[in-house]
Amino acid sequence: MKVPMLDLSEQYSNIKEEVLTVLDEVMSSSRFILGENVKKFEADIAKLSNVEYGVGVANGSDALHISLQACGVGQGDEVITTPFTFFATAGAIARAGATPVFVDIEEDTFNIDPKAIEAAITDKTKAIIPVHLYGQTADMDPIREIAAKHNLAIIEDAAQAIGAKYKGRMVGELGDTACYSFFPTKNLGAYGDAGMVVTNNPDIAEKMSVIRVHGSKPKYYHHVLGYNSRLDEMQAAILNIKFKKLGTWIEQRRQAADNYTKMIKEALGDQIVTPIEREENFHVFHQYTIRVDKRDELQQYLNEVGVQTMIYYPLPLHVQPVFKELGYNEGDFPLSEKAANEAISLPMFPEIKPEQQKYVVEKIIEFFIK
Ligand SMILES: *Cc1c(COP(=O)(O)O)cnc(C)c1O
Repeated sequence: MKVPMLDLSEQYSNIKEEVLTVLDEVMSSSRFILGENVKKFEADIAKLSNVEYGVGVANGSDALHISLQACGVGQGDEVITTPFTFFATAGAIARAGATPVFVDIEEDTFNIDPKAIEAAITDKTKAIIPVHLYGQTADMDPIREIAAKHNLAIIEDAAQAIGAKYKGRMVGELGDTACYSFFPTKNLGAYGDAGMVVTNNPDIAEKMSVIRVHGSKPKYYHHVLGYNSRLDEMQAAILNIKFKKLGTWIEQRRQAADNYTKMIKEALGDQIVTPIEREENFHVFHQYTIRVDKRDELQQYLNEVGVQTMIYYPLPLHVQPVFKELGYNEGDFPLSEKAANEAISLPMFPEIKPEQQKYVVEKIIEFFIK
């Protein structure tokens, strides 16, 4: 048997006719940029996030960058975030002209440790970017308290967590802005790049909608420096179709996660650390990520027997060559470094079959008892 990390083929065959129909509609309409499909998708994602405004942009990385700009973050400012995330989180901070300041994570959720944030605040700190890694929110109440106390903006990196909840509140309403990615592998994926920022703040929403069109307002008059970053009509039309299934897909992911955990625990007890879902959280399992000691050997073994896995992420951002000048060293964030050595994500997608999951777990057991 072969089990891929992600298989989008069944999903496509289920929606193929609808997708081809709307693509034909968009092309026949000749309206490709910022039309009705984008408007509808922005409204639906804002509603899901329990906020007023959605601003479609070209990708999740730009969503972060535009959020920072709209919150007034730029040259000379510092933004606190986690080193255990996809590069784009810190890349956006640096692209905005600001300095990423890292703090370590919590071991059990892999998310930024709120207790570490306050010590990293200086008079240059302007914002915090918590990342809801793998589909589970960061511990937002203490982060919100710190941000309020020090007058900092909160930008949620919700690229992996659309539809997740924290204490009954939605991802998207937990900060000043929240950034989604609709990269094809995300829980709600386009057929190309796409992203969005949601917010409840009308001024920030207005600024972002101007920045994404070159800072042009009124048209051809530029008071701010923007650029070209838009979600296009074809992707929005596809995403409008997929959006209707998101709730079902999230339930299927949660069920698959539950299956993995039961099978692994039964066979291996505590030899493997399975993902936790904190009581106050509703985890959407973008990834199902376990921790093991012999991680690289396990990955190689699984690869040989047809099970694809991924390492998110093998090198924390504070030790990435491009951030060398920030002056961090190995050992600065032990829990992030430990996670980078132990974490391995198993195949996870809504359509994954119980037989496939059974095979994955059997092969993991084989590795540990051989
Ligand atoms: C995917 C992702 C992004 C960036 O999204 P793109 O659409 O690929 O630019 C940012 N942050 C995190 C945590 C991500 O997983």
